[in-house]
Amino acid sequence: MPEPTTQQPRRCNVPGCGRPHYAKDYCQAHYRRLWRHGNPFIGIKIGDLTNGQRPIRRDCCEAGCNRPHIAQGLCMAHYQRARRARS
Ligand SMILES: [Zn+2]
Ligand SMILES: [Zn+2]
Repeated sequence: MPEPTTQQPRRCNVPGCGRPHYAKDYCQAHYRRLWRHGNPFIGIKIGDLTNGQRPIRRDCCEAGCNRPHIAQGLCMAHYQRARRARS
C-alpha cells in the first residue's frame, strides 16, 4: 500500500468508497460500521449513512400514513401512540 502523500487528503480504505478519511483508515460511515459490527464491509447500504448526517428521509410505515419518519419506523404521532401502548 502506497504512503499517503501530504497533497492528497486521506481516503477511506474500503474499495470504491472514496470518502474522506475519518479514523483507523476508514471514513466516518465505515468506521462506525467497524466499531458497531466489527466489520466495515457488513451489508448496510452506504447511501443510508451520509457522512454522519441524518439518514435519508423515510415515511411512517403505518398503513395509510405518510407523515415523516421519526423513530422505529413511525411518525411522531404513531411513535408516541406505540410508546404509550407499550408502557
Ligand atoms: Zn468508507
Ligand atoms: Zn404515522
